[in-house]
Amino acid sequence: AWGRVCETLAKRIGINNYKSWIEPLRFAGLSDGIARFEVPTTFFGDWVSRNYSDHILGLLNADGHAAGRAEFVVPAQTAANPQPTHAPIAADKPARAAKPARNRSDEDLPGATLDARFTFDSFVVGKPNELAHAAARRVAEGGPVSFNPLFLYGGVGLGKTHLMHAIAHELQARQPQLRVLYLSAEQFMYRFVQALRDKQIMDFKELFRSVDVLMVDDVQFIAGKDSTQEEFFHTFNALIDQNKQIVISADRAPGEIKDLEDRIKSRMQCGLVVDLHPTDYELRLGILQQKAEYYRQQYKGLAISTGVLEFLAHRITTNVRVLEGALTRLFAFASLVGREITLELAQDCLADILRASDRKLTIEEIQRKVAEHYNIRLSDMIGPKRLRNIARPRQVAMYFAKQLTSRSLPEIGRRFGGRDHTTIMHGVRKIEELMTTDSQLSDDLQLLRRQLQA
Ligand code: ADP
Ligand code: MG
Repeated sequence: AWGRVCETLAKRIGINNYKSWIEPLRFAGLSDGIARFEVPTTFFGDWVSRNYSDHILGLLNADGHAAGRAEFVVPAQTAANPQPTHAPIAADKPARAAKPARNRSDEDLPGATLDARFTFDSFVVGKPNELAHAAARRVAEGGPVSFNPLFLYGGVGLGKTHLMHAIAHELQARQPQLRVLYLSAEQFMYRFVQALRDKQIMDFKELFRSVDVLMVDDVQFIAGKDSTQEEFFHTFNALIDQNKQIVISADRAPGEIKDLEDRIKSRMQCGLVVDLHPTDYELRLGILQQKAEYYRQQYKGLAISTGVLEFLAHRITTNVRVLEGALTRLFAFASLVGREITLELAQDCLADILRASDRKLTIEEIQRKVAEHYNIRLSDMIGPKRLRNIARPRQVAMYFAKQLTSRSLPEIGRRFGGRDHTTIMHGVRKIEELMTTDSQLSDDLQLLRRQLQA
């Protein structure tokens, strides 16, 4: 049974994780609903328990064994019960004393699980993400460090995590000896706090400074968390000084992350900062076609027409995760009821998703977001003030109202405190004209557009 579980696990969590965390386990039997495993160290046991016990239990149960809990124990080192020979003992207390001689192995690299599906092969490239993709590729090819750090940013579901995992997979495939550590900023904080609590901060520092490539996902998470930021900053500097590659992702540009220390922001900006833009129609269609091909195989030839894919690419513009979810549901539903995937079926089965993405942006939302961005009052949007620092943001809001809603100029005018439609037109033109020469304004517009369309 354990053999079968292992096979499936290897596929599910990827061969690297499998080799690091599952292979060293010794299955010691299952009784009273408890699956028992021997592990080389307590730390190892904790890590596997936290990250993989759900997988393991799920698979054991699917294989017909009632397992409600998994236990990981370090076997006592007596003659009657010798240490299992296959265990890669890397982080034992005695070894720790002999520090300089210590040779780290991948088994004590506590990264997060990499999703085996997130590869460069499965990443569809289009205009909105081509730069980010090219940069990620370059880093994954490993050559002499070209840009360090690589900072990827963009809205939810646009492929940041996918690209980071792809880099990790590619690096490991090309250079298996490299120590690549991928984790979320949240996990970084969690491990830091744990190390503080367990008085193992030196180990923590040593571990993070010993990697060849560090990838931290969703770094905005550590904003405002002072001691974690501090530690992150030192880790970051130590690695950069050693010429080790760093890859960071966030939901916005470094300079726009509130409560992130300035020195961290400026360090982030030293390398290459690239953003993933919101998807366009062609990219969405490309992604759908790729996924549909996959499902066609999974569901034994169940077909989906280009017409339906085009319909979805037009209507679901929020993010790629939602797009994927829609396709998954569509295939599952069609196969369940034994029907062909037609436009009507799609409209039926995805009614809620379609309705949610139809949600129309209101002029008030635009005014609120823009006012917030420029730190002015919402009431100034409709008020009469003509000061530049208020009039300009107001024009920005007019510009977006025209661009992103289907309201007519007179209607927009009414919502800006009863202004005349020519005033609105003037405002929109002014912004269009300025954005070509004023780079600050053009950055503001880009950021706001992304937030408004999220
Ligand atoms: P983020 O980390 O930016 O929030 P993810 O990387 O988790 O987004 O992507 C969300 C989902 O969309 C994942 O399943 C991912 O595989 C898929 N995805 C995003 N962009 C692409 C792309 N260009 N090609 C293929 N799949 C994509
Ligand atoms: Mg992500």
